[in-house]
Amino acid sequence: MATTPLPLEVRNITKRFGDTDVLKGLSLEAHKGDVITLIGASGSGKSTFLRCMNLLEQPDEGDLIVHGDTIRFKKTAKGREPADWKQVVRMRAKLSMVFQSFNLWAHMTVLENIIEAPIHVLGKPRKEAVEHAEALLERVGLSHRANAYPAQISGGQQQRGAIARALAMDPEVMLFDEPTSALDPELVGDVLKVMHGLADEGRTMVVVTHEMGFARDVSSQVIYLHEGLVEESGTPAEVLKNPQSPRLQQFLAPKY
Ligand code: ADP
Ligand code: MG
Repeated sequence: MATTPLPLEVRNITKRFGDTDVLKGLSLEAHKGDVITLIGASGSGKSTFLRCMNLLEQPDEGDLIVHGDTIRFKKTAKGREPADWKQVVRMRAKLSMVFQSFNLWAHMTVLENIIEAPIHVLGKPRKEAVEHAEALLERVGLSHRANAYPAQISGGQQQRGAIARALAMDPEVMLFDEPTSALDPELVGDVLKVMHGLADEGRTMVVVTHEMGFARDVSSQVIYLHEGLVEESGTPAEVLKNPQSPRLQQFLAPKY
């Protein structure tokens, strides 16, 4: 029986900055519909791990397999880099990233932000891209701001626009790096609600987050990183409710 390839497999990634080993051999397997949350103290390597998944950082060692397609690397004087950047472009279209600071392009309206890549990367006709964008804006509750520029809307609206932009590529996997941590507290809920909806509809997601309620409610797997290694991983019931490592217990303890 033919098996469908996994959306994303990461095997034994390492990454060093200068003489610091930041990632010391990290692996992850995302099956379709999985929501994998990465938690851990600041500096534990969460962002670097996520950035290695779509090659915003080049892992020094390890394998990356996106929907069955193994990324090919070549050795250079500086280390390792992708052997074929066209392959990277294809794989990035399958992995959309949403960052902590809302990174909509400032000189484009929300709608223009969303249709840009579908038109220029996927080659979609403009009319079709606009129709899809309008449906996505509806979905994230932003239809009324389609023609606003990023500076004219709130951080939470910008972040929902960024999610719509990521969705417009119909990605295989969505990567989120602390998508709510730069938001004013009253704006966090709307963004989490959108992400909750994506999880419910079976989107495959890898999410770096400090929102433990979100992690508890939607994760198929929670991974706790400490200094570039997986210290503990499992279901939310295992990792968040019944943590084994003293360090994780401390990390999860109420701060005040
Ligand atoms: P987290 O997202 O968990 O806070 P990061 O992945 O951002 O952690 O960082 C992990 C470690 O790698 C930190 O010690 C950080 O200072 C270091 N680091 C991250 N990016 C770079 C970089 N571009 N150059 C040098 N050091 C970096
Ligand atoms: Mg980070």
